[in-house]
Amino acid sequence: MEMSGFSTVIPLAYLASAVLFILGIKRLSHPETAAGGNRLAAIGMLLAVIATLLDRAILDFTWIVAGLAVGGLVGVVMARTVKMTAMPEMVAVFNGFGGAASGLVAVGEYLREMQSAEVLAIDSGVSIMAGTLIGAVTFSGSMIAFGKLQGFVTGNAISNPLVKFSAGILLGFSVVLAVYLVGFESNLVFYWSLIAAALILGVLFVIPIGGADMPVVVALLNSYSGLAAASAGFVLENNALIISGALVGASGLILTGIMCRAMNRSLANVLFSAFGTTAASAGRAADGDRVATPIEAEDSAMVLGYASQVIFVPGYGLAVAQAQHRVRELADLLTERGVSVRYCVHPVAGRMPGHMNVLLAEANVPYEQLCEPEDVNPDMENIDVAVVVGANDVVNPLARDDPSSPIGGMPIIETDRAKTCIVIKRSLSVGYAGIDNPLFYLRNNRMFFGDASDALARITEEVKQL
Ligand code: NDP
Repeated sequence: MEMSGFSTVIPLAYLASAVLFILGIKRLSHPETAAGGNRLAAIGMLLAVIATLLDRAILDFTWIVAGLAVGGLVGVVMARTVKMTAMPEMVAVFNGFGGAASGLVAVGEYLREMQSAEVLAIDSGVSIMAGTLIGAVTFSGSMIAFGKLQGFVTGNAISNPLVKFSAGILLGFSVVLAVYLVGFESNLVFYWSLIAAALILGVLFVIPIGGADMPVVVALLNSYSGLAAASAGFVLENNALIISGALVGASGLILTGIMCRAMNRSLANVLFSAFGTTAASAGRAADGDRVATPIEAEDSAMVLGYASQVIFVPGYGLAVAQAQHRVRELADLLTERGVSVRYCVHPVAGRMPGHMNVLLAEANVPYEQLCEPEDVNPDMENIDVAVVVGANDVVNPLARDDPSSPIGGMPIIETDRAKTCIVIKRSLSVGYAGIDNPLFYLRNNRMFFGDASDALARITEEVKQL
């Protein structure tokens, strides 16, 4: 095909890939269509990559093919082996690499343009500086987020106003350097200084943020990685990269907003309150006069087997115990007995957005049995049994009753108002927010102590005996 033919086909291929990205994202909004949406977006990306490879006058494909092979292999191995509970860590690493890749494109272009011009052209200069700055911040910030999620970066000791002040100074310094490099003079020492400042800025930005808020920060960094990719798209004059970067940037920001709303917190509060650092470390199991009443499998089975309305409330412990198949087995058994069963999923249950939905979908839980807090809360008094499986913060009545609590104002699933609530967890210890849960000590509540998977299996066996 002639180059003139390519010049029409390439933009059309980019347009098709952009349409596939948008349709893919749209389909991600429902569990039933999500897997298909993911595939559509992946096909769009493949199309964009092929179009880009054909569009550029590439002299040697060796490095590209080697990169595709190694990168593809690493991606497949990671996607297949990563545990569901470690998904936020993997997303953090991928965001970091995305930021680094976009930053490296900007660095390459800067070094190339420097050779031919003393001062950068304003349009490419702005794109290069934005790509460098956002790419470097995204990379180092994501690596710290990864370290915090893994638990080898704590940052508690340095979460003080000095860090925020230094970050402010560094941001100002980076912007001044970037403006100078575009407006006045190309200078390699200044450019490396900008990269160093941006890398430190990423560290300072993430390190004071509390561990509990890391998934929100990962969503925000995801948005940054999109902006970095869009900047790289401007640098390379590649429309597909601009569009996909903008989509990632916008969707990451929307997701950040959704997560903040679900926790009833502002983004500023997430970024500057060090939530989940001190609270989590200070948190301890409840004690004193209050008594939590335990329940065993046999009694649980009696209560459940003769109920007419039951809701299951999954939480982080369900993911840890990988109890999604067990909960489905018990729910199916109850349904066969004529019990009306629903799964009520809180938007921030677990450790990443959609965590519970993914697990329940893996166990083929029927979508029509899924519901949201606002669907059950108004009718909670009529629910015979609410079974809380490894959840804690999302059913903590303090969020509703005590505005001064760290989770004050966060919408919850009000299982404390059900006729009977059974909480399955291993102990009375705190959840991620690090605060005690008065639900455990209520008269209508029973504690089933144990691993969620074992507990559900034992209850299921007992229900079979009824
Ligand atoms: P929590 O973290 O509040 O509680 C989880 C509970 O699971 C723990 O109390 C633990 O108790 C129990 N558990 C752990 N392992 C097991 C096991 N094997 N079997 C049974 N129970 C187990 O979880 P929630 O889902 O209720 O709340 C999520 C929290 O994470 C919220 O604070 C939310 O704001 C926060 N968060 C969530 C985000 C998201 O995107 N989903 C993002 C940012 C923050 P025990 O040790 O006694 O067993």
